[in-house]
Amino acid sequence: MNYNGMNFDNYLKQYPDANGYFGKYGGSFVSDELQKAMNEITDAYFTICKSSKFIGELRKIRREFQGRPTPISYLERLSGTIGNVQLYVKREDLNHTGAHKLNHCMGEALLAKYMGKKKLIAETGAGQHGVALATAAAYFGLECDIYMGAVDIKKQAPNVARMKILGANVIEVTHGLATLKEAVDAAFDAYTKDYHNSIYCIGSVLGPHPFPMMVRDFQSVVGIEAREQFLSMTGELPDAIVACVGGGSNAMGFFSGFLNDPVEIYGVEPLGRGPKLGDHAASLKYGTEGIMHGFNSIMLKDENGEPAPVYSVASGLDYPSSGPEHAFLNEVGRVHYDVADDEETIDAFFKLSRLEGIIPAIESSHAVAYALKLAREMGKGSVLICLSGRGDKDMDYIIEKYGIR
Ligand SMILES: *Cc1c(COP(=O)(O)O)cnc(C)c1O
Repeated sequence: MNYNGMNFDNYLKQYPDANGYFGKYGGSFVSDELQKAMNEITDAYFTICKSSKFIGELRKIRREFQGRPTPISYLERLSGTIGNVQLYVKREDLNHTGAHKLNHCMGEALLAKYMGKKKLIAETGAGQHGVALATAAAYFGLECDIYMGAVDIKKQAPNVARMKILGANVIEVTHGLATLKEAVDAAFDAYTKDYHNSIYCIGSVLGPHPFPMMVRDFQSVVGIEAREQFLSMTGELPDAIVACVGGGSNAMGFFSGFLNDPVEIYGVEPLGRGPKLGDHAASLKYGTEGIMHGFNSIMLKDENGEPAPVYSVASGLDYPSSGPEHAFLNEVGRVHYDVADDEETIDAFFKLSRLEGIIPAIESSHAVAYALKLAREMGKGSVLICLSGRGDKDMDYIIEKYGIR
């Protein structure tokens, strides 16, 4: 199909190009040493991941370990509150470990196994990526080093405990502000020194090529399943689909199934407390082009051109950029990127819990909040939301900050 003059018939094969570019976004901006490691992963990915043995093993893992396919649920009572639009959710909250992240972590770890690597290395901020990766490492019997800022270790005690129970080494990073940025640097350093033996596992559609492509491909199972399921449930495609965008992995996997369909696609970024720099993490809406963490994309910068401090009520969304493919889909106008603020997000969190018996992650609640606004504007039709994860991890925070509404 054509959108704004661009043809999407063969999109997933055409993008990214051989150097990892989606238009002008993406690429690989790393040291020569690290580039060798990236080339090795790219080569391995293109051979191993196309083999029926690898694909067969990944499918078996998804079915027998992760519990896929995850269902789509029709939100009858919530739909009833907004008139004639029918709302549905793709239930990534029911994926093992409670979110979509395991989809790419199992893929990355299986690739590591096929490449003969012994160790998985990653950083984590809120700990969600660390827990998913530690789960994958335990499953495959691989070592797992998770770099985490000292400040985050204090804040995220339950996830630190989970990682340790799963057998991962949580390595405390104490320099600088001792948060995610420093953890990324420390993890990259460790990986550069040890890439013969280990593989770096990025937590979203971010970082140097081939990660944005690889993570999208591993997450595309969400979109493929959702499209088939929705068709068989209703006989047609949804009119619109909505997902939250932090780095953008759940959104990219979900969207990839519908890019060549007559479906309106919405990515929702966190507006947090408002549009002032520092109060949100809506990089596509307020950011500018720039290079960070090894790739070119749209990012929020401070006055020195460095990644700006960002805020969101959802710790999984507070990243100062988004994956390069989102920057591209925004530029060519195939996906609409918009925002939901903290207040409407928390409201949606309680609505979905009360009316449907599904407690969503605060990240996913951004997509629900936006879908409710969109549905009111549409007046009729159907909206399918990607419910990226469950809200159990957010209970303490919600009760402390908002009480029970
Ligand atoms: C990590 C996380 C996100 C944000 O990551 P993306 O790469 O943007 O998908 C969203 N939802 C949940 C539940 C998460 O854990």
